[in-house]
Amino acid sequence: MVSLDVERRYLVDGRLLPFTLAKKFTRYPEWCVSAWHDEDRVQQPALRDSNLCPVCTDSLRSAWAEMAAAYVPLQDRVAPSQSFGNGDRVGGGPVHPPLPIDVTVSDLLRDIRDEVASVVRDLVEDRPDWKRPADPTTDVLADNLARWHVDYIATHPRAGHARAVLENAWSLSQRIARTAVYDGGRVEAPMNERCRHRENVVVKVGGKPRVLSVQCEGMVVAVQSPAGARAVVCDLVPAHAIPADIWMQMMKASLPRPSRTVNTLARRYADGLA
Ligand SMILES: [Zn+2]
Ligand SMILES: [Zn+2]
Repeated sequence: MVSLDVERRYLVDGRLLPFTLAKKFTRYPEWCVSAWHDEDRVQQPALRDSNLCPVCTDSLRSAWAEMAAAYVPLQDRVAPSQSFGNGDRVGGGPVHPPLPIDVTVSDLLRDIRDEVASVVRDLVEDRPDWKRPADPTTDVLADNLARWHVDYIATHPRAGHARAVLENAWSLSQRIARTAVYDGGRVEAPMNERCRHRENVVVKVGGKPRVLSVQCEGMVVAVQSPAGARAVVCDLVPAHAIPADIWMQMMKASLPRPSRTVNTLARRYADGLA
């Protein structure tokens, strides 16, 4: 049951409407509002009743999934496990100086946490009936956003909000890529499947620039991080990482004969990590 009185209000056609109604009356743009297309100077048609094109919609989903998958491994990097020092203090030698904190990584963690919190704060104001996950840590919330709230952003009555959220998500996923989160992960099982990450590339067709959506050339590998997080990771670009269960869902949704193929992959995944 949606309680319209407590939803945040938006100005649509001169009327202040609660979120749910505002969405109904919003006239969505013809072209995707993502800043990326401005830079390329090539517009892409937005999906019906959405601010975003299909490529940008998918890209927001994978950027959030990458944040969810990277968060705990990044934390491990800032505070490596307490295992160091075992046997080192025999004889009362000098106490270890504190480990140098990796500032890049701790800044990245803070920015991911702030961004996820800010999207969730807006979500709660727009949709007060939203059920917060039981254990709302940043990785859990990012995972929840990737699974359930991509359309909430894509169809937000304020196009500028969709644009800003997408831009922040992209910039964070690029920073995750630069820190090569999965350095310490153990490679467990090749999946013999192409990476599903897509990117826009600009090509010249008859002298005119056109944007093409191109699938990554990498192959995916099932990985378990030292902290136990399971993900499917691209062998070319480590940031193309998706929690294993989301990846399974995507395979299921896109394969012509889903159950059998996915079962085979699931078995290979489980065997590899056994
Ligand atoms: Zn787009
Ligand atoms: Zn890839």
